Amino acid sequence: MNILNDFSKFNSEAAALAAETYGTPVYVYDEALILERCRECTEMPEAYGLIVRYAMKANSNRTLLKLITNAGLHLDASSLNEVVRAGLAGVAYDKIMLTTQEVHTGEDRKKLEDLLLSGLRYNACSLTQLHHIGGFAKANNIDVGIRVHPGIGSGESATRNTGDDYSCFGIHLSDLPAAHKFAAENGIKFKHIHVHIGSGADTKMWRQNIDLLLDIIENHFPDADTVCFGGGLKEARMPGEYAADVPLLGSYAKMQIEDFYKKTGRKLKMEIEPGTYITANAGYAVTRLIDKKKTARSNFVITDGGMEINSRPLLYGSKHPVYIVSYDGTRVISSEFDEAKHDFEAVVAGKCCESGDCQTLDMDGHAVARAMGEPKVDDLLIIGGVGAYCSSMSPYNYNSHPQAPEVLFTTKGKLELIRKRQTLEQMLENEI
Ligand SMILES: *Cc1c(COP(=O)(O)O)cnc(C)c1O
Repeated sequence: MNILNDFSKFNSEAAALAAETYGTPVYVYDEALILERCRECTEMPEAYGLIVRYAMKANSNRTLLKLITNAGLHLDASSLNEVVRAGLAGVAYDKIMLTTQEVHTGEDRKKLEDLLLSGLRYNACSLTQLHHIGGFAKANNIDVGIRVHPGIGSGESATRNTGDDYSCFGIHLSDLPAAHKFAAENGIKFKHIHVHIGSGADTKMWRQNIDLLLDIIENHFPDADTVCFGGGLKEARMPGEYAADVPLLGSYAKMQIEDFYKKTGRKLKMEIEPGTYITANAGYAVTRLIDKKKTARSNFVITDGGMEINSRPLLYGSKHPVYIVSYDGTRVISSEFDEAKHDFEAVVAGKCCESGDCQTLDMDGHAVARAMGEPKVDDLLIIGGVGAYCSSMSPYNYNSHPQAPEVLFTTKGKLELIRKRQTLEQMLENEI
């Protein structure tokens, strides 16, 4: 019953059982932590109503979508296919907001119209999208939201900043006059005003984001009744990292929204769209150590699941905690959160033919050794913090590795398979 870290109930014995039952590599998600994060968000302080939308691109497994929406969250979808997936998971369309880069034509346009008539909510993210949807929305009395590009953003890396002028998400402030002109000519009123400034934004930026959007609404959107501050609530994966203080951010937003009411007489409902914060730390990739090597520079430990399981180190230079457990789960050999057990240093490499297939990379893509306890071949190496943007964003068929299975570690301490491992036949079935 060795707890791997403070915030999760997942433990070494469950990890060994998952490896034995489903094979490695395998993703395991801690149900209790997901529910706790959902509760924390839905119970944050609020002024005149709150909707928490889970950004389903973080992890779109249907069991997780059910779990999270049953906990009271709505969804943020970033493509039409995500909307369809959520529908197949039993989520009502009126609980889904589509905020997408897609411009739907042909068959997709038809599908979008059907979904909108079934209650799907739509957030216009470009003038093109607005022009496409305007007539249909007006004719069917459907409200169109607007994603504003504020020109200011924040993320843990440049590639995750979605609000500054190096990125192209939303209708830029400088295009608002054109959006308003179109809306006025077509009888559209913007009631739902949205920004999303990036992933892992620091707390100070998130507060500025609240102020900025309320300012934008006061100056540009007289019909607004809902303000959506987007996602980007920061999660702490590694020791020494700080997570967003959700109750504190809620208090701040509440205060500012109440202040807005005093100034303008308008009561705004609030929405937020956390993805990372809901699932990231609930996810563990259980891999098996298959080899050990060394160079003149470093020791390497090689696992059977690397960049195809978690590509975030390669994409972003992200750091994830590493745990090592004896093959049978009876012993925790090392934990990222227990320096006393660190008597060895090694790069954690995967099995892909790619020097960047390492879990321990720096921001420049160099493999760096990580302190740990020395493992033996066959021991389990568990990568933490992989519940968001890992399974859903993985280049999984590279080197013809199959997509890994997903397992839920339930609140009752049981393991439940929620996605099977892909077979080689499935990998090849569309080839002609
Ligand atoms: C990705 C995304 C989110 C979630 O971002 P996190 O950093 O995972 O919280 C929220 N809203 C929109 C529109 C997004 O595209």
